[in-house]
Amino acid sequence: MSTQASTVPAYAAPAAKAPLERTTIPRRAVGDHDVLIDIKYTGICHSDLHQVSDGWGGAIFPMVPGHEIAGIVTEVGPEVTKFAVGDRVGVGCLVDSCRECDNCKAGLENYCTGGMVLTYNALDKNGEPTYGGYSTHIVVDEAFTVRIPDGLELDVAAPLLCAGITTYSPLKYWNVGPGKKVAVVGLGGLGHMGVKIANALGAEVTVLSQSLRKKDDGLRLGAKHYYATSDEATFEALAGTFDVILNTVSAPLPLEKFLGLLKTGGTFANVGAPEEPVSLNVFPLLGQRRNFAGSMIGGLPETQEMLDFCAEHGLGAEIEVIRADQINEAYERVQASDVRYRFVIDTATI
Ligand code: NAP
Ligand code: ZN
Ligand code: ZN
Repeated sequence: MSTQASTVPAYAAPAAKAPLERTTIPRRAVGDHDVLIDIKYTGICHSDLHQVSDGWGGAIFPMVPGHEIAGIVTEVGPEVTKFAVGDRVGVGCLVDSCRECDNCKAGLENYCTGGMVLTYNALDKNGEPTYGGYSTHIVVDEAFTVRIPDGLELDVAAPLLCAGITTYSPLKYWNVGPGKKVAVVGLGGLGHMGVKIANALGAEVTVLSQSLRKKDDGLRLGAKHYYATSDEATFEALAGTFDVILNTVSAPLPLEKFLGLLKTGGTFANVGAPEEPVSLNVFPLLGQRRNFAGSMIGGLPETQEMLDFCAEHGLGAEIEVIRADQINEAYERVQASDVRYRFVIDTATI
């Protein structure tokens, strides 16, 4: 590995729905503004499953997933100013953007209107496919690399690069804080970080899960209340309760029932990305001037802010570290909502 382009080990899906297997992939030479990262840990996000199965459409194979990357800088390009060899860094869902549109200029690269480049399952500005963090090394522009504060171990920090920022950004945008009642729907990778972050922001947090199976965990993570959505009584008991509902569920929900849990003017902030369209009866929105909002990951400045916030409040992800040859098994467990609460790949085993 050095200023030359290189070939590195990785785990890839050769085709839609095919199991992931060990392979090798090219990494570009370290450019003027690039850092070479020795990846230590990569989280498994449910978005990896959606994309490996081509559930969202337009997938590019072979696919090396992974956008929750934590590692160490081992080389820097000559123009790099932010990072030095040995620094602890992270890379999330995007590795480039147009850098010229209003959103890019405002640090909202995640909403780039000129074409952002996702960390994997995308083409970069040279038309080359991007490959993600299920590999040993990655070369990334320093502008799309963030610093992992010393207070966070790399393994528990990795999931923050997607699950952390995806929940932090809408919670901040919708002014979650002291005096606010927030419900987090789905206690998975995103959901468990949503609970921790909303609690650290000072809100009163309720988990809405399919069952009470994970209730003890939810309360330990910072929720004050925990309800099962399989119980119809939940929807009667909580009608009109919440300022914000953060929906992290990977499948379509009966939205009308959930919208009824919002206060007047409350917001249903949707980050779950089901493969099928959802249908929405607008009347629960109209009747109480409620909002239905989307949110997608976060920009680079806010991602750094989130990492600093998590370090300050001691908020790492709850993780189960796995070997690379356990990835396919981990996918089955994520699909079955059997994860507490993020699988993280030890990339030394690739
Ligand atoms: P995850 O770990 O699998 O968690 C999803 C949780 O949703 C599960 O743990 C489960 O919680 C609940 N759930 C699953 N299937 C359900 C069903 N059929 N009905 C009701 N609840 C169900 O997934 P994740 O990694 O947190 O990702 C969640 C979703 O967010 C995915 O669709 C992912 O693609 C999307 N995502 C979006 C963004 C963004 O920027 N907007 C970023 C990352 C991920 P309980 O067991 O507690 O019910
Ligand atoms: Zn993700
Ligand atoms: Zn842009």
